[in-house]
Amino acid sequence: MDDSQYGTRDKRGNWTPNETLQVAPYWTGQWGKMGQFLVGLVWPWNAFHMGTAFLYLWFVIPDRETLATFSWDWALWLLFVNMAGIFVLYGAIEFFYYVKRIQGDRWRYNHKFPADNPSDVFWFKSQNLDNFLRSFLTGIPIWTAVEVFMLWCYGNGYHVFGWVDWQDNWLWLAILIFLVPAIHEVHFFCIHWLIHTPFLYKHIHSVHHNSINPSPWSSLSMHPIEHVLYFGEVLWHLVLPSNPVAFMFNMHAVGYGALNGHIGFEKLEVTEETAIDSHAYAHYLHHKYFEVNYGADGIIPLDKWFGYWHDGSKEADARMKERFRKKKERLNAKKARQTPAE
Ligand SMILES: [Zn+2]
Ligand SMILES: [Zn+2]
Repeated sequence: MDDSQYGTRDKRGNWTPNETLQVAPYWTGQWGKMGQFLVGLVWPWNAFHMGTAFLYLWFVIPDRETLATFSWDWALWLLFVNMAGIFVLYGAIEFFYYVKRIQGDRWRYNHKFPADNPSDVFWFKSQNLDNFLRSFLTGIPIWTAVEVFMLWCYGNGYHVFGWVDWQDNWLWLAILIFLVPAIHEVHFFCIHWLIHTPFLYKHIHSVHHNSINPSPWSSLSMHPIEHVLYFGEVLWHLVLPSNPVAFMFNMHAVGYGALNGHIGFEKLEVTEETAIDSHAYAHYLHHKYFEVNYGADGIIPLDKWFGYWHDGSKEADARMKERFRKKKERLNAKKARQTPAE
């Protein structure tokens, strides 16, 4: 596919899409775009997360009675399946697009590939190895622990308002499933903004930001405290009337779905004519500029409301630089006040 029709490449080889990022069309009254937006929301990524949630519920997760008693048998089995699932999904994209480089640097935002750039900030000087180990040593185990806790609560009927079933509550559960991306954006924006405050950034979130040029293995490469805050999103299903289909979909949207922001390509070519949208650009810009786009796709556009939105345009770039300049000025003024003149 020819990416030059959809974006421009600078002298260094970095590709920028022509189309700027858009918040969900219902915020701007562009009702004609709703159909396209809804298709993009469902297909293929959320459909995939729902599909894998069902596969888990049918083949991996034991019945409710078994879940009522914690046992290492089913907990470790779940851990194994999660590790295998992440290995296959993230590993496949890493292997084909980063190792084999089957589409070269077409649709690639940053022309460099992490494997070509060893750096001291990473374990063993390797971004891939560092990110992979952090995902498997703490990321997936913490994800699984949250999942086990939720399933155990379900097994025992622990819930603030009681678990609900499909028969009597199908309409609410269908709405809840559609609300999952919104829950994700609000939760993620809040915890993400929080860990960008100086102290927490230094001690916790900087681990994730070591990957300025992220690849699939960067997705779950975080400090363990960030893992807890990030996967803790699913605990909302103990407060909202919910059931296992809804919370497992949410679990997979955060676990498997962490991938999306870190794909590094605007599209993944599948055949000569077809490609999948990665939805990576907003979060790619976050890794590049740090203090922009704390949320996700603009479903609930908190970034726009709070002035952090970067849509990829020159105007957004100018606004961001002006904001950074003012912040620096404020910090310098504060420093000057604290250091008395000699
Ligand atoms: Zn990230
Ligand atoms: Zn961040």
